[in-house]
Amino acid sequence: MFITENKEHRLITQNFFDILEQNPAEINKKIAQSQNFMNAVRELIELCGDDPDRDGLEETPYRVLKAFLEYTEGYREDPKAHLMKTFDVDHQELVLVRDIEFHSMCEHHFAPFFGVAHVGYIPNEKITGLSKIARLVEGYAKRFQVQERMTTEIVEAIEEILEPKGIMVVIEAKHMCMCGRGIKKSNASTVTSSVRGIFADQPDARAEFLSLLQGRI
Ligand SMILES: [Zn+2]
Repeated sequence: MFITENKEHRLITQNFFDILEQNPAEINKKIAQSQNFMNAVRELIELCGDDPDRDGLEETPYRVLKAFLEYTEGYREDPKAHLMKTFDVDHQELVLVRDIEFHSMCEHHFAPFFGVAHVGYIPNEKITGLSKIARLVEGYAKRFQVQERMTTEIVEAIEEILEPKGIMVVIEAKHMCMCGRGIKKSNASTVTSSVRGIFADQPDARAEFLSLLQGRI
């Protein structure tokens, strides 16, 4: 059993509690990796031209480690599990959850991207709690991601678990890798959508969904 003797160890054991219980050797590997990572952040600070030992930067490697574990919390859950509790309801019309805020991390630059997701589905007997849809979005956002894949993952999870007649997901996000670097377009936003079932087959259903988002995207 590893004795948690400093804050890095405590941070790792809190974040990987399941591993700690099942496989202590694996937790030692995580602790070693976290120490290597913090050393790498020190190297990065020096590489960029600053002093990793100065006051404001001294604790930065630990803070970056902590932040990254938070940005990637989605890896340590199964987002689909949020949808498992379903209710039988005789509702055959659109259920739309708008403006689900999320924060994610672009896997190409490790820069944040953030925005809102709009998730609509037409149930086929099974519905889920509305907050569960938001948790599903959160679970796929909190990992190294690209917006296009995140959109598809949300649609496919709902398709698999709720088996609805149709699903449509629209995500609008700003990417810091476009705002603060590269082409520096700070007002540009990216809209992605993914559709299945009725929304793919029937333009009227898609139009109804989009009319309910008017003024939002
Ligand atoms: Zn990027």
